[in-house]
Amino acid sequence: MLNIALFGPPGAGKGTQSEFLIKKYNLFYISTGDILRKEISEKTKLGLEAQSIIASGGLVSDEIIVQIIEKTITDNPDSNGFLFDGFPRTYIQAYILEGLMIKLHTKLNCLISLDVPVEESVKRLLHRGKTSGRSDDNETVIRNRLKEYNEKTLPVLQFYKDKGIMIEVEGMQTIEKVNIEITNIIKEELSKSLFNVVVFGYPGSGRGSQGKALAKKFGLEYVATGPMLEHEIEENSEIGKKITELYENGQLVPDDIVVRLIEKKIEKSKNVKGFIFKGFPRTLVQSYILDGLLQKHGSSISMILEIEVPTLELISRLDARSKTDNCMPYDNSTSKIVKRLQEHEKKTVPVIEKYNQLHGVKIIDGMGKFDDVFERLSAEIENGLKSMR
Ligand code: AMP
Repeated sequence: MLNIALFGPPGAGKGTQSEFLIKKYNLFYISTGDILRKEISEKTKLGLEAQSIIASGGLVSDEIIVQIIEKTITDNPDSNGFLFDGFPRTYIQAYILEGLMIKLHTKLNCLISLDVPVEESVKRLLHRGKTSGRSDDNETVIRNRLKEYNEKTLPVLQFYKDKGIMIEVEGMQTIEKVNIEITNIIKEELSKSLFNVVVFGYPGSGRGSQGKALAKKFGLEYVATGPMLEHEIEENSEIGKKITELYENGQLVPDDIVVRLIEKKIEKSKNVKGFIFKGFPRTLVQSYILDGLLQKHGSSISMILEIEVPTLELISRLDARSKTDNCMPYDNSTSKIVKRLQEHEKKTVPVIEKYNQLHGVKIIDGMGKFDDVFERLSAEIENGLKSMR
């Protein structure tokens, strides 16, 4: 998710810049001013409450603002990101935004402040007043709006300066130049955000080999719990010995072992573009753990894929693998194979169902040649990356 707030005095050009940003980055636009004007034109209770305040150039109460923002955000949880225009406008609203972002497991990437002197604001708004039809674009009200801005809105800048996510842009340039500067800021932000994919599929669906190849192609870090556990077994560490025992009984490795290994891997991976998770999360508990781990790094899941292969084909693939050198200790007998398939159905299928309700899971046909399946998976990831840009 990419969440941006455009900040600046009335007339700074926030609305104009927003128009191109929402198109270019496919963001959900939230202008509290627009929402309030709509409420007024529909004569809702909220609109009637706000009407006289807006007409005088004052600020509507934080209570009203929190209601409209919360509703708009929670009605659109699957958007690519939000672009805020005219919000947060008070120090309290900055805290409100923090809380709402946490609720969505995301954060505000940055607040872009358009710097425009007071007299220029007045000039622009008077000019706009000739055609905007807005009753608050007249000189007396404009002066009051700017007074409110200086007293109540400017302190918001300090809030974001302290957080280190406030970026200033000179607003006294052509629309195109401001545009370019904002685009550069967003590019920089996007390069910081991680693209995280979870690849699901029954054992034998090809999620491992496909996941590894996808990671290589897209420059993502491959995180597979299986090989991490294998490594511990090879090292013959205490954890390794415990894992061997569990494998032999066809059981899952306890979460505290898995979590620590994944945490280590994420922390060690600096300067990566994102992760591909395979074989994790395998249980509902692990799905909460993954959310927490990613959030700790200011990130979240970007895409969930499930490779679908019919059961009989899975058994035949796993059986064939058990007769080769690639045989895993956990699929060297029919009973172990069946046990793993059952574990997946019992513990992992509910995770996929949960994700499907929350974010949507993209189902990929896993039948056919490796390259064909790889192409299908790649196309999904390319789409995902595109909508992020
Ligand atoms: P705008 O369209 O952003 O210039 O907003 C027009 C008017 O709506 C403002 O002068 C305020 O009266 C009101 N308003 C818009 N957004 C907010 C907000 N976040 N907090 C308080 N009042 C707001």
